[in-house]
Amino acid sequence: MRVVRSVAELRIALKALREEGHRLGFVPTMGFLHEGHATLIQHSRQRCGATVVSIFVNPTQFGPGEDLATYPRDLEGDQSLCLRMGVDVLFLPDASEMYPSHFQTSIEPGPIAEPLCGRFRPGHFRGVATVVGKFFNMVQPDLAFFGQKDLQQCAVIRRMVRDLNLPVDVVVVPTVREKDGLALSSRNAYLSPQERTRALSISQGLFAMEAAFKDGERSVDMLTAIAFDPLHLVDQVQYCELVDALTLDALSGDVDRPAAVCVAAYVGKTRLIDNILLNPSGDGVMFGNG
Ligand code: AMP
Repeated sequence: MRVVRSVAELRIALKALREEGHRLGFVPTMGFLHEGHATLIQHSRQRCGATVVSIFVNPTQFGPGEDLATYPRDLEGDQSLCLRMGVDVLFLPDASEMYPSHFQTSIEPGPIAEPLCGRFRPGHFRGVATVVGKFFNMVQPDLAFFGQKDLQQCAVIRRMVRDLNLPVDVVVVPTVREKDGLALSSRNAYLSPQERTRALSISQGLFAMEAAFKDGERSVDMLTAIAFDPLHLVDQVQYCELVDALTLDALSGDVDRPAAVCVAAYVGKTRLIDNILLNPSGDGVMFGNG
């Protein structure tokens, strides 16, 4: 595994891999890697001859008062996970490499960035789209892998790729969970044991809602209420909404197209998000994946 810190070193490492004829897969992350990230790497390894992972805690996607300074880090653990998973190139830029002085150009996503997290994290998706756009230009991957757990992030990036004709296929990988249902997240490290137990109410509500959907319930109001019910155990619900899985438009009446129930909630000081996809046609295919 080559570990590189500058764009210049990255380009040299990637040139060699391309000359060997490899299809390039890319997995952008903020580090403190877990099984969710490992699964993205695994998907990339299955579909591409070479895999690039980036670790960068991107300051422009954090708002004032958010957890940029305390975001968990474990570079040594991350490097050994990447090595174990067969990553070819690990890119570890610092903020000055990503945002040289006088940096001033951004990618502004459209209305797809406005609902859900966009309502509570103004500017977040501008930061995400900009940094992912920059990484796409640096790495020039054939395929890029993102987790369904960050559903709105996937939607924003898929929209950006289409709107700007970026030559990359975006692959959305299903959410990896703990055995008890909690969606894996680097931020789970913030949870006390008691908070972790209360955090389970998020996935429990989503699973109950999914079970009702499988039993034939189609009412948006009923399904949303089922997902919401156990959330009295969390400290603050930012949203619990049933939306079109691709456009993120709010749905009403009955679920008649691929949809997602999305939740964001605070447990103690930790903000957690999760979602579950619902597909009325039952064919299991939600995204045209690369
Ligand atoms: P992060 O390091 O949290 O920015 O995440 C990097 C990538 O890993 C993003 O595409 C996330 O959606 C994805 N990811 C995070 N958690 C999970 C999970 N539990 N299952 C699958 N993918 C995940």
